[in-house]
Amino acid sequence: MKLTYLGTGAAEGIPAAFCHCKTCEEVRRRGGREIRTRSQVLIDESFCVDFPPDSYFHSVRNGVDLSAISHLLVTHSHMDHFYAHDFILRGYKYAHAMTSPTLSIYGNGEVKAVFEECTRREMRKEVGGTISCTVLKRYERTKIGEYAVTPLPANHSKGEECFVYLIEKGDKRLLYLNDTGRLSPEVYPHLQGKKVDLVSFDCTFVFESRGVNARHMGIGDNMAVKAELERVDAVRKDTKYVVTHFSHNQAPLKENLDRLEREYGVICAYDGMTVEV
Ligand SMILES: [Zn+2]
Ligand SMILES: [Zn+2]
Ligand SMILES: [Zn+2]
Repeated sequence: MKLTYLGTGAAEGIPAAFCHCKTCEEVRRRGGREIRTRSQVLIDESFCVDFPPDSYFHSVRNGVDLSAISHLLVTHSHMDHFYAHDFILRGYKYAHAMTSPTLSIYGNGEVKAVFEECTRREMRKEVGGTISCTVLKRYERTKIGEYAVTPLPANHSKGEECFVYLIEKGDKRLLYLNDTGRLSPEVYPHLQGKKVDLVSFDCTFVFESRGVNARHMGIGDNMAVKAELERVDAVRKDTKYVVTHFSHNQAPLKENLDRLEREYGVICAYDGMTVEV
């Protein structure tokens, strides 16, 4: 599996849309890799996790063929992970010679509701007819194209059942932990012996730790989850750990993230980063 981290920022992005804090000003000055758009990961060419408002920009900046995405897995309905308005443009006069004529979206019930709500006004019948929305159930392993996906409950929102995912293709496994705080104890038995190749962590709070009741994680929380994954044999010695979804409030500038990598042996994602497992 080839993962391309198209966006690695939290909901507000870095620099944040309306913010003039020291970090955002510094990022505006530096540009380049310090800029972080909203989180999205492309797996190979046709499978994608989340669809933030920056997806269009990702396609232009990173040369991604959005029409080739035939399967879209969505973690939850928050706007930085699912910007459904754009799908009215997937066909009719707006899109010709698309690589995949159809798109299948998978997520929780709120994702389906948000899709319907956001496309209600402008979706044309002939476009809507090519897009499906399937509601997944926790712990139910589902075949999606060449992949098998198991939704696991996240600790993220009281308003909906957010999912994080175990994603498998052949003998390769990826554990995608966005957006979530530390996982609940009941999740770990479902990961027993999985020996995943890569864990992608929510690391919104960077060097801070937020403990068991938080909606996001920092590196201390990531390490606590890692210890639990080791306990149930869900990881190996050579498993890769990627951290992402950074907030401007924790100054995730290059020098700080370099330190995080050195001290914790993780890979700090940046926009456009690819990693293969
Ligand atoms: Zn988020
Ligand atoms: Zn800021
Ligand atoms: Zn969220």
